[in-house]
Amino acid sequence: MTEPTPAGAGAAGRTGGEVERAGRDGGAAPARRSLLPAPGQGFGVTFAQMFRKVTTEQYPEVPKVTKPRYHGRHVLNRHPDGLEKCVGCELCAWACPADAIYVEGGDNTEDARYSPGERYGAVYQINYLRCIFCGLCIEACPTRSLTMSNDFELADDDRQSLIYTKEQLMAPLLPGMEAPPHAMRLGDDEKAYYVREPEAGSAAEPVTAERA
Ligand code: SF4
Ligand code: SF4
Repeated sequence: MTEPTPAGAGAAGRTGGEVERAGRDGGAAPARRSLLPAPGQGFGVTFAQMFRKVTTEQYPEVPKVTKPRYHGRHVLNRHPDGLEKCVGCELCAWACPADAIYVEGGDNTEDARYSPGERYGAVYQINYLRCIFCGLCIEACPTRSLTMSNDFELADDDRQSLIYTKEQLMAPLLPGMEAPPHAMRLGDDEKAYYVREPEAGSAAEPVTAERA
C-alpha cells in the first residue's frame, strides 16, 4: 500500500524545475527557504506588480494597430479598370476547413461583363460565425482576388449580419476604376489582365542579344 504524501512535499507544491530535477535524481528536491512567512511571500508578489509598466490598451478610444500580416476581414479585389478579379472557381470554398465560404459562379456576356474571364462570382458569401481566419482560402485563390485585410472589428449581436455578402466584401472603386458590368479596358482578352510585359530593366525582363 502506498504511503500518503505529506502536505507540501508532493509535486503540486514544487516548481516545474524542482519536479523535473526530483524525477531525474530519483529523490525529493530541497524545499525553498524564505525568511518571510507564506502570507508575506504571497503579498510580495502582489506588491511587486504595482511597480511594473501598465499594459492596459485604451481600445476603442485608441485604435489597435495590428501586425502587417494580421489575418482580418476578407477583401475581394478588382483589376485596375474596376472589373472583378474573382472568376467564381470556388477553389476558396473547397479549401476552407470550416465550410465558411459559399460561391456561385455566373457566365460573363459581352453585354454584362463583371470579370475578364468566362465566369465571375455571381454570389459570394463568407460566414464569420464559422471562419477561423486561417488564410487557407487566400492561398487557394488562383487570381489573387481574395485577400485578407487587417480589420478585426467584426463583433456583432446578430448572427445574420455576420454572413458577409459580395457587396460587403468587394474592394471600393479607386480613381480610374469603373463599376462593372463593362467591357475589358486593359486588352482584347483576359491575358492582358494576367500576363504583363516586365518593366524595362527589371530582373524579370529577358536578356536580349542587344543587352547581353
Ligand atoms: S480564413 Fe480559413 S476559415 Fe476563414 S474563410 Fe478562409 S479558409 Fe475558411
Ligand atoms: S475568390 Fe478566388 S478562389 Fe474564390 S471563387 Fe473567386 S477566384 Fe476562385
